[in-house]
Amino acid sequence: MLTALKGNIIEALSPNSLGLHPNSFLVLEDGRVAGIYAQLPQAMKEAQVTDFGDALILQSFADMHLHGPQYEFTGTGMDRPLLAWLETYAFPAEARYADPAYARERYRQLSRDLIQNGTTRVSMFSSLHTDATLILMEELEKAGVTGYVGKVNMDRNAPAYLCETTEQSKAETLRWLDACRRFTKIKPILTPRFAPSCTEELLAFLGKVKAERDLPVQSHLSENVGEIALVAELFPDCGQYWQVYDKFGLFDGKTLMAHCVHSDERERAALLERGVRPVHCASSNNALMSGISPAAELLREGQGVCLGSDVAGGTTLSMLATMANSICASKDRGVMKNDPSQALSIEAAYYMATSAGQTFLGAKPGFGAGERLHAVVLDDTHLPMLPGMSLRDRLLRAVYRLDDRHIRAVYSEGVRRI
Ligand SMILES: [Zn+2]
Repeated sequence: MLTALKGNIIEALSPNSLGLHPNSFLVLEDGRVAGIYAQLPQAMKEAQVTDFGDALILQSFADMHLHGPQYEFTGTGMDRPLLAWLETYAFPAEARYADPAYARERYRQLSRDLIQNGTTRVSMFSSLHTDATLILMEELEKAGVTGYVGKVNMDRNAPAYLCETTEQSKAETLRWLDACRRFTKIKPILTPRFAPSCTEELLAFLGKVKAERDLPVQSHLSENVGEIALVAELFPDCGQYWQVYDKFGLFDGKTLMAHCVHSDERERAALLERGVRPVHCASSNNALMSGISPAAELLREGQGVCLGSDVAGGTTLSMLATMANSICASKDRGVMKNDPSQALSIEAAYYMATSAGQTFLGAKPGFGAGERLHAVVLDDTHLPMLPGMSLRDRLLRAVYRLDDRHIRAVYSEGVRRI
């Protein structure tokens, strides 16, 4: 069946270029992108058109780093330093997900809120609880969110009430992987919390499982200086942080590494060489005073950087706000370094919030032909149209001025969800 969305279509083709299609038709065949046209071609005249008037039709967002069980306390305790924040908020919150009924209610809300905010692709950390992780995957899939979810592994350096033994962690990982075969849109991703929370035995086991089952991996890398020092202490045979993951076969083209705020030249070269994707999380880097990521530099080097809300280290689930935060942070870095090229452009920010995550998940960038539609319709028509205002200007303004109240429609996998 042929359908079409009509409006101002904006694609993130590369970190440097937007595809701008004013007042055009995004034509779909059975929910898959057939093409973008200024006028409907003769052969497509019978397409059923949904006319969004002067609204903006964007790719929906890919939030490539967030913690599902932390969503409930987003914005709370942001005046605490990292360790106090973890002990007072993050760990007790995650412990509550031992209760499946509790997990069901909270994860249903999170899944709805993601769609409400135009996020249809994710790579998310769950807690260490297998059953709650399966519930999270179920609720995301039901709501129309696609991508990856990982059961967290941590067998050391966590509070006693939230720590697995190495044997438990291994057995539960296998039980989880077997149980999540039933999902079609949400897939498993191996998730060692970060190097310091895993023993070498556990990391070696995860590397073996990854190789045997060809699975992706997500974790944290070089988020703050204290963490880097701890890694050096715990893994004295690894010269640099990334080498811990690399040593155990957890560092390749199917790997997401959140933060990379303090990755030096050598670590960045390793990221690039292995095709590992950094995930930039500006809001949490600011809130937890981790530092300011060299996001524009990473992007220029060709790293394919994704964006993450990183709730609840980050303060918002909105990827519009996450883009704005990323641009602001990059400008702060530009001021500090006296280097204006550190500033992220709107092209870069939009690419990082959409196509970068899409391509990690195996889809083409932009509204790629043949791909199932993932789109969000943003209505900025209550704002004044200024003389000579381009679609690019409107996209940049939307990032600063719009939120979930201005979302008129969300499509995921070719299906309208809002
Ligand atoms: Zn994180």
